[in-house]
Amino acid sequence: CERPRSIPAMVAEAVARNGDGEALVCGATRMTWREVAQRSAQIAAGFQKLGLQRGDRVAVLLGNRTEFVLTMLGAAHAGLVTVLLSTRQQKPEIAYVLTDCGAKLLIHEAALADRVPDTSDIPDVVHRIAVDDDPRLSHFSELADHAPLTGPVEVDEEDTAMILYTSGTTGRPKGAMLAHCTIIHSSMVFVSSLKLTAADRSIAAVPLGHVTGVVANIMTMVRSAGALIIMPEFKAAEYLKMAARERVTYTVMVPAMYNLCLLQPDFDSYDLSSWRIGGFGGAPMPIATIEKLAAKIPGLQLANCYGATETTSPSTMMPGAFVVSHIDSVGLPCPGATIIAVDAEGRELPRGAIGEIWIHGGSVIKGYWNNPKATAESFTAGFWHSGDLGSIDEENFVRVFDRQKDMINRGGLKIYSAEVESVLAGHPDVVESAIIAKPCPVLGERVHAVVVISNAVGAEVLRTWCAERLSDYKVPETMDLRTDPLPRNANGKVMKRQLRETLTAACGAADQVD
Ligand code: ATP
Repeated sequence: CERPRSIPAMVAEAVARNGDGEALVCGATRMTWREVAQRSAQIAAGFQKLGLQRGDRVAVLLGNRTEFVLTMLGAAHAGLVTVLLSTRQQKPEIAYVLTDCGAKLLIHEAALADRVPDTSDIPDVVHRIAVDDDPRLSHFSELADHAPLTGPVEVDEEDTAMILYTSGTTGRPKGAMLAHCTIIHSSMVFVSSLKLTAADRSIAAVPLGHVTGVVANIMTMVRSAGALIIMPEFKAAEYLKMAARERVTYTVMVPAMYNLCLLQPDFDSYDLSSWRIGGFGGAPMPIATIEKLAAKIPGLQLANCYGATETTSPSTMMPGAFVVSHIDSVGLPCPGATIIAVDAEGRELPRGAIGEIWIHGGSVIKGYWNNPKATAESFTAGFWHSGDLGSIDEENFVRVFDRQKDMINRGGLKIYSAEVESVLAGHPDVVESAIIAKPCPVLGERVHAVVVISNAVGAEVLRTWCAERLSDYKVPETMDLRTDPLPRNANGKVMKRQLRETLTAACGAADQVD
């Protein structure tokens, strides 16, 4: 079918198809698609009143709430670029992103005001708007209470619509530039592959500020013109209650969230019969979780979606018919995607051979904001280097076995070791450190630090040091403090595999290591 050429065009289509249908639900608020479109056009007018022009960046530090969705759609309507911040980021992380992207406006949770850096540190940010449920603390109406902008600001479909920062091996986050066309492509893939319609009802339980929240939840519901029920904060018991009450049909979550739902003792008491698609991605799903969900919710199609921020969500999807027969695979390349495994020189390997997974296609970004060096290192001829190790078989099924990037996957949230190690290195009593994954049955992995110290310093002191500078989930949960140096190979590289093996072997006693 005809492809819309911008995010506002996609919103207009949702209005045309299901204008009076339910669009957004959050707490006591229920809005139709017509109201969402109207509100976004009002916010777009508010952006213009502040003097923002096509291509300017608006940074958003909001939790899961309707204002998040309205702000990003309003920004697209005004031809602006939404830059997403995570509500778990600390002041230095927020300052870095604001400086790097040159945001002119910051829209933030009023409750997070103390994490907002001083204007003197961030010269480009000339406006700030606080948002809160309490109208006395919220200034959102200053942005939203205007006559709607007539018609969206015209953009090119290749224009950047959003910037999402991802960490990396260098430790400095990189701004992945998601264009209107890549976002549209990805949401169309979700809708067509999973046969979503305006009758579908989805719960957004993942943080909206990540690619899964933006694309698999928000933009996919815009494309299908179905309803998006926003959960302010994921709690498994609440989630099950909400899914039953709202007759949810479609969700995309990380495996850890399914694990937590299954741990609920009253799981079987909820009527989840309307739930027909359970998408998952961000991390491998344990086979036991797939089997339990299949047994407990007959008719639920579990769809493994493998992708990343750089692929604007999924690059593979597992078709329903193959979930059991190909349980070790992340699925087939999505329409328009080409996936290859390459050797260390970047040469394509034959079918079945294991190498680094490279991904090309309509949903792959063109590069990182303001960072040609990182772009050149991570992309070759439009292929994004995933850093994952896997293979592609004769039937095109993709398997992901391991990764070569030095990253920990804590329930779908990624922690790059280099970032935590560089924060620890700043402490005066730390000589060096190695951040490694500690296996966890629910979250998959947790953050463990092996730290070489020069003076007697406690794990709690080092944790506080990290907590002041890093998002909470990046702070090492367990630490092994020592005075002897880290094991290194002949090239001087820390042998993390050896540290991981020692930790895994000691895992029963691992809780005592700090
Ligand atoms: P989000 O920011 O919403 O968490 P994400 O997890 O899809 O998005 P990234 O944080 O960029 O994206 O992480 C991408 C990495 O996550 C992949 O390179 C891979 O290592 C891992 N990953 C993603 N999906 C899967 C999957 N289905 N199975 C195994 N690993 C996955």
